[in-house]
Amino acid sequence: MKLHEINQAPFIREMCEATSQLWNYGWAERNGGNISYRLPQEEVKYYLNTDQVKKIVALDFTVKSLAGEIFLVSGSGKYFKNIQKNPADSLAIIRINAEGDHYELLWGLEGGDLPTSELASHLQCHAVRIAHDPEHRVILHTHATAISAMTFIHELDEKKFTKTLWQMITECLVVFPDGVSVLPWMVAGTSKLGAASAEKMNDSRIVIWPHHGIMGAGQTMDDAFGLVETAEKAAKIYLQICSTRQEIKQQITDQQLLDLAAEFHVKPKDGILKGKGSQDD
Ligand SMILES: [Zn+2]
Repeated sequence: MKLHEINQAPFIREMCEATSQLWNYGWAERNGGNISYRLPQEEVKYYLNTDQVKKIVALDFTVKSLAGEIFLVSGSGKYFKNIQKNPADSLAIIRINAEGDHYELLWGLEGGDLPTSELASHLQCHAVRIAHDPEHRVILHTHATAISAMTFIHELDEKKFTKTLWQMITECLVVFPDGVSVLPWMVAGTSKLGAASAEKMNDSRIVIWPHHGIMGAGQTMDDAFGLVETAEKAAKIYLQICSTRQEIKQQITDQQLLDLAAEFHVKPKDGILKGKGSQDD
């Protein structure tokens, strides 16, 4: 079968567009941020001979449930602003081996670099999200400015953090009824942070790393990107309110949020809202 030009593959185009946009937003300074995209196997074969393995590399953890899965991932140390100029230098397509303890490099990273240093977090998060949702595909980590700033002045209690975000924009509860999870500060790039993030992904598709950034999960690139954008917008409004040093005179009440959830047929995360129709009523 004649292979199509891989730079024209929809998944490469989407990755280039997303990374450029993240850089434009100012959330991907230097080599900040990383994305992994679980590729549809039937699509990959039009662009790549998946029998040709360039390199096999051991993982320092095991993700048996991802055996055979193929991921497009950003490379370690790569600048998002440069990815679209040369995707084959900045991105990699990897496949997890049958035992789930190695990955095979199928394409990319032509300069000999490694996949993102947050690969442990990404793969463990994918495993958890797929268990909840077979349609899950994207994990996106970025240094979203307002969310990071908010972690300095807001309590890190995840229920309180979630409620504050829900109250900032009416849309938030509808976009992330599962709320946000918040980890304690942890060293970046470790499998410990990966395991902790993955554990949190059981409860919500957004995990906040205080004083660092945000992780979002989605069924498509737009889905994950939109999720992170919405939380970030809410955080921005929160910071603007704080900066006015004015007392809040009115806001969306718990009951109004519950009414909204009922109208949009979403179930708000338990333990946050009180009122008619709440689990905690
Ligand atoms: Zn980061």
